[in-house]
Amino acid sequence: MLVLGLETTCDETSAAVVRRHDDGHGEILSNVVLSQVLEHAEYGGVVPEIAARAHVEALEDIISRAMAEAKVGFADLDAVAAAAGPGLIGGVIVGLTTGKAIALATGKPLIAVNHLEAHALSPRLVGRLGFPYCLLLVSGGHTQIVAVLDVDRYERLGTTIDDAIGEAFDKVAKMLSLPYPGGPQVEIAAARGNPARFALPRPLLGRHDPDFSLSGLKTAVRLAAESAAPLSDGDVDDLCASFQAAVVDVVVDRLRMGLRRFAGKYNKPKALVVAGGVGANKAIRGALDRIAAENALRLLLPPAALCTDNGAIIAWAGAERLALGKADELDSPPRARWPMGSPLKIEATDP
Ligand code: ATP
Ligand code: MG
Ligand code: FE
Repeated sequence: MLVLGLETTCDETSAAVVRRHDDGHGEILSNVVLSQVLEHAEYGGVVPEIAARAHVEALEDIISRAMAEAKVGFADLDAVAAAAGPGLIGGVIVGLTTGKAIALATGKPLIAVNHLEAHALSPRLVGRLGFPYCLLLVSGGHTQIVAVLDVDRYERLGTTIDDAIGEAFDKVAKMLSLPYPGGPQVEIAAARGNPARFALPRPLLGRHDPDFSLSGLKTAVRLAAESAAPLSDGDVDDLCASFQAAVVDVVVDRLRMGLRRFAGKYNKPKALVVAGGVGANKAIRGALDRIAAENALRLLLPPAALCTDNGAIIAWAGAERLALGKADELDSPPRARWPMGSPLKIEATDP
């Protein structure tokens, strides 16, 4: 089956065409991603209103390109999938409304996809993987350890009680005056720095629940930066290295706890998988390698382009749902907040 997927929940405008073969394996026919990084750079973060307008301006052309690259017409599609949340509501409305319009005009079913579910199912698009598996979702907006039990069946084992890891990377970059977006810049600086130079906290280490906390670590970086000011380039590198090392220690400890929790409740996971932009970080990837090895687990790291936001993972989640006969009404609501695995329509008053 052939599905068009639309992603507009944050600062990437993306459309993709994905095929799900009858044996369940996936094939990406096109995945056009337009990043709005330049639009938001001067503000040092994503400005929701600017993002929504940029989605409106770009989406139609991005869809045409995705269809052309895939060499398919609307009549060839089996469904139109659009991310219905969670995310910045203006952008979500743009993508979901466009998806509904195409569904209405073509008579194809609409699949209203949960953006987090799309990240969670993304490894099944690239490799053969059965349920259950353990997902580490680490992005700009989310930091979660999830038991992925089936399509539509997820249990969040742990989450951040304050900032997301990507958000912490971005804030540290900003306080050290590194260019936006900060995560990759921190990684580059960290590679040159000394991780033992600054003693930084490892919040919640050893705690029984596999939750995360990043705000204390971020504050510790700020205090260390203030006490070392004025900062030389070497100081910035050392701060980034010390911060990244602390994050890696936290991820390792929290994930170990999460896997223990997983094993206590369910069968052994078929794999450990990572999704979200922070999954592009090589230090974190290295740590995941070690954890997978010590637990004799298969590690699945989707390519970086599928870890960050893109239409292909939305199309794929749509295809997985369609294969189970799940489609959505044309009055499905856009949602700013939408916990994975919960029904779409529960918060009728959500903006
Ligand atoms: P969400 O998907 O939760 O709505 P998002 O769209 O911001 O949030 P992604 O696009 O998946 O998330 O990822 C972007 C985040 O990943 C940013 O916070 C960015 O700094 C971080 N990131 C990207 N590359 C790296 C890297 N190499 N090291 C650390 N962080 C990184
Ligand atoms: Mg993004
Ligand atoms: Fe995302």
